[in-house]
Amino acid sequence: MCPGPIAPLRAVSSLRQTGRMDRNLALVTGAARGIGLATTRLMLDRGWTVAMIDRDGPALDAAADGLRDARAFLCDVSDPDQVAAMIDDVRTAFGRIDAVVNNAGVALFGPIEETGFDTWREVMATNLDGPFLVTQAALPALKESRGSVVNIASISGLRASTLRVAYGTSKAAVIQLTKQQAAEFGEFGIRANCICPGPVRTKLAMAVHTQEIVDAYHDAIPLNRYGSEKEIASCIAFLCSDEASYVTGQVLAADGGFEATGVGLP
Ligand code: NAD
Repeated sequence: MCPGPIAPLRAVSSLRQTGRMDRNLALVTGAARGIGLATTRLMLDRGWTVAMIDRDGPALDAAADGLRDARAFLCDVSDPDQVAAMIDDVRTAFGRIDAVVNNAGVALFGPIEETGFDTWREVMATNLDGPFLVTQAALPALKESRGSVVNIASISGLRASTLRVAYGTSKAAVIQLTKQQAAEFGEFGIRANCICPGPVRTKLAMAVHTQEIVDAYHDAIPLNRYGSEKEIASCIAFLCSDEASYVTGQVLAADGGFEATGVGLP
């Protein structure tokens, strides 16, 4: 069962007081930190209301505290029942969903021989099942709004490198899921696009990026640096906006030029 919306937030009452429910509603998964939190803040700056989704209740509560026009919903995106209940709660609260940002992700690295089935399933459950389930459950609302979907894949879904059998395979599948969504949803005026971030210094990345990987990225990336959360958020906000009204089924590598070079990684 989905635990439902977490404890009342100041943001909720400010939403009710200002009566601004007519603003466009973006649903952002993995919003408690990293790229998802940066996306939440940028979308709020640009006039959206944001439904912040995460399975980490305390982190989500802390992230949402004080964010005007945002509201937190506790949900594990890999659980179909929790996702269905969460989408119901978001629609009840806001009456609409205009954009779905499937950002929640986990990274567990290891060579094929040492990747247990539990690890494989854990990565697939969040990274692949999550975007499938959330988008499917949000589809009736997206049909009403003629909204859009942005899936967060990775450069690891574009190019194979060692240690990334589960992570890279999950992200390659997200790229294909995006194209399937674009093909099916076009008739409803719904767009679906995908972003492949290069490395960003978030908790997820720095838990698996050894010094060897950090050095290799700096050498391999033409801009010679990691990206920032906000640089990825900018691409997400663009694809959600009407500025991208004729863009669907696309894969945008926001990676400092990494994908263009073909240089390998450890
Ligand atoms: P992060 O670890 O900082 O944040 C991920 C958030 O997702 C966390 O708040 C976590 O609690 C939440 N989450 C994880 N599993 C969940 C689940 N099953 N249900 C609900 N919430 C869940 O990570 P990040 O670096 O900000 O990553 C965001 C996305 O960007 C991920 O999909 C990741 O694969 C992708 N990405 C990141 C990088 C990078 O270098 N940081 C590079 C390429 C792609």
